[in-house]
Amino acid sequence: MHSHYIAVFSEDADLFPRVAAALPEDATAAYVTSLEDLRHTLKEDPALVVVALPPDPTGFVDSALVADLQGYPVVLLTPVEELPIAVLDTLFALSPRALVSVPFESDELRDTLSVVTGETKVQTAESQLRETLADANRRLNARLQEINTIYTVGKSVSASLDADEVLERAVVASVNLTRAEEGFIVLQEGDKLFTRVVKWRNHPLPERLYTETSDSIAQQVIRSGRPAMLHRKTKIATGFFVRALLYVPLQVSGTGTFGILGVVNRVKDEPFTEHQLFTLSSVADFVAIALENARFFSMVETERSRMGAILEHAAEAIIVTDLDNRLWLWSNTAAGIFSLDDEARGQAIQSYLEHDEIRDLFDRAAREPAPVVHTEVTLEGGRVYNAQLSTIEGVGRVAVMQEITHLKELDRLKSEFVSTVSHDLRTPLTTIQGYVELLDRVGPLNEMQVNFIDKALNSLSHITALISDLLDIGRIEAGYDLEMGPIRVGELVETVAEDVEVEAAQADIEIRVDVADAPLISWGNARRLRQVIDNLVNNAIKYNNPGGWVEVHAHRDDDHIIVAISDNGIGIPPEEQPKIFERFYRVQSPETEEVQGTGLGLAIVKSVIEKHKGRVWVESSPGEGSTFAFVLPVHKPDGGSATS
Ligand code: ADP
Repeated sequence: MHSHYIAVFSEDADLFPRVAAALPEDATAAYVTSLEDLRHTLKEDPALVVVALPPDPTGFVDSALVADLQGYPVVLLTPVEELPIAVLDTLFALSPRALVSVPFESDELRDTLSVVTGETKVQTAESQLRETLADANRRLNARLQEINTIYTVGKSVSASLDADEVLERAVVASVNLTRAEEGFIVLQEGDKLFTRVVKWRNHPLPERLYTETSDSIAQQVIRSGRPAMLHRKTKIATGFFVRALLYVPLQVSGTGTFGILGVVNRVKDEPFTEHQLFTLSSVADFVAIALENARFFSMVETERSRMGAILEHAAEAIIVTDLDNRLWLWSNTAAGIFSLDDEARGQAIQSYLEHDEIRDLFDRAAREPAPVVHTEVTLEGGRVYNAQLSTIEGVGRVAVMQEITHLKELDRLKSEFVSTVSHDLRTPLTTIQGYVELLDRVGPLNEMQVNFIDKALNSLSHITALISDLLDIGRIEAGYDLEMGPIRVGELVETVAEDVEVEAAQADIEIRVDVADAPLISWGNARRLRQVIDNLVNNAIKYNNPGGWVEVHAHRDDDHIIVAISDNGIGIPPEEQPKIFERFYRVQSPETEEVQGTGLGLAIVKSVIEKHKGRVWVESSPGEGSTFAFVLPVHKPDGGSATS
C-alpha cells in the first residue's frame, strides 16, 4: 500500500483545489474525473480514496466500480439533499470512513482527512504500542462514525410523513447498520400482526407487504415491550429457520408497544451483539416517533379535507376566524357573498370585510364573554341573513349565516294581514256592542232576553280583548309606539297594584307590594311596561283561588332591575311551562276551563321585555303557585352600556 498516495474522484474538476488544500502535505494525489480513470488509480493501491458523489449518483452506484472499491478506506463527499434509498444502501455497503457534506469548508475536510489518513498511517507502523493506540483510536472513530450514522439515519427516517416510506428507510438502515442478512417490521393491528416491510439478503430494495404473521417471538416482544436477542443452531421462531435474531419493540411513551423492528441471520452463524441491540433500539426510537408523526399527519389531513368538503358544500355562509378575528376558512356561499378569495386568508376581518353588521358581530364576540352572539345582517339587494357567531375557546370563532329573506317577508305579510283584519273588525264590533248595550233602554226585556244580552256582551268583550291584544302584538313586533325614556319601575308596580285592588277584592285575593326604597330606573316605554306588569298581576289573580294572595317585588341587583310577581294559585305543570309564552297557548285543565283569556297575554309580555333587552321566565309548582319574573337593564344617565 502506498501510504502517501490518495485517489480523488469528482466529475466536477472545480472541486479539486479545495480537496487539494485539505490533503496532508506529504501526500501524492491523483485527481480523476471519470470512473474509468478512478479504476486505474486503484491499481496503485491508494491509501485513501476520496469520492465526490455526482449530483445524480445513480451512474456511480450502478457501476461495477463500487465492488472494486470495497477494500479501500473511502471518504464520501455527499450533497446535503436526501439520498434515494437505493443509493444509501450501496453507500452503506462501502463502509465509508467518513461522510462529508458538500459544500464544505477546507478546514473541515482537512480535519476529517487527517483523522482518516492518520489512522491509516498508524496501521502500517510497526510498534505494538502504536498499533494498540491505533486500534483504540479506530474503535473510537468507528463509534463516533456510527453515532453520526444513527443520527443521519434517524433524520432520514423521520424526515418522511409517509408511514410506508418511514418503514422502508428504517429497515434498510437497520440491515446495513447491523450487517444482518435480513430485516423487517411487524406492526400490530387489533389482535393481529402484519409484516409490513422486508429487506431480503439478496434484494437491493426493501419490499412492502401486508402479510399476517404468527411470529411468536414478535408477539412476545410486543406484549412485554422488551427486546429479544437469540442465537441457536436449530429452528427459532414459529415461521422460519434462523440462526440469530434481534427484535426490538416499537413504542412511544403512553401508547404502549405497537410493533417490532427485527433483523435476522439465516445463513451465517453469527450472533448479534449488545452493541447492535443498542444501534437497532436507537433506530426503533426514530421509527416509532416518525410513525406517530405520520399517523397524526394523516389524521389531521383527513380531518382537514373533511372539513373542507363540508364547508365547500354548505348552503349556509360560514366564516371561521382565529381568536384575533383573522379570516381563516369560509364556505363557498360566504366566498360569493363577501367576495373572499385566497388573498383574504390571514387578513383581519375588520379591515377586509365591508359589511358593518358582520364586523360588529365579530367585535361584539371579542368584547362579550358570551359563547354565542346573534344578529340579523341585511345585504345589498335586501337579502336578510340570520347570523350566529360562536366562540370556541382556544380555537377561534365560527359565524354561520342562513338566509331568512323569505321568512322575514312572510312574517311581515302575516303581521300586516292580522293588523288590517283586526283594525277592520274593531269598528263594527264597537257598533254592535253599543247597540246591544242600548237594548234595555228601548223597552222592557224579559229575563231570558237579559240573559241572552249578557252572554252576547260577554262574547263581545272577549273578541274585543282578543283584537286589541292582536293589534298590540303586531305593533310591538313592528317596533311601533316604543318611544323610550327613563322609567321608574317601582312607581309603575305600585300604580298597577292600586289599579287591580278592586278586582282583587272581588275575587277575594290579597295584594302585597314590596318595592325597594332606592329608585329603580330603567329605560323603556312606560305604556308597554305597565301592560306587562298588568298582564302578569291579572294572571296571578285569575289563576288563583279565593282567599289566595299575590305578591309583587321590585328590586335592583347590580346592573339589573328584577320584578317578580308571585301567587299561591293553581300553578302550572312543568311540561306546560315552556309553551305558555307562545301565542294563543292556554293550559287546558279543569281549573282553567272557566277562566277567560286570549292566550296572548304572556306572548305580549315576552315581546315587550325582549324589545327592552330584558328576559322573562317562570317558576311554578302545580297546586302551590307560580312566580313570573323579568329583568331589565338599569338606566345609567351618563350613557353607560346598560341603557341602549
Ligand atoms: P290567557 O289570556 O289565557 O291568560 P296568557 O298568555 O296570559 O293567556 O297565559 C297563558 C296561559 O298560562 C294561561 O292560559 C294559563 O294557563 C297559564 N298561566 C299564566 N299565568 C298563570 C299563573 N299566574 N298561574 C297559573 N297559570 C298561569
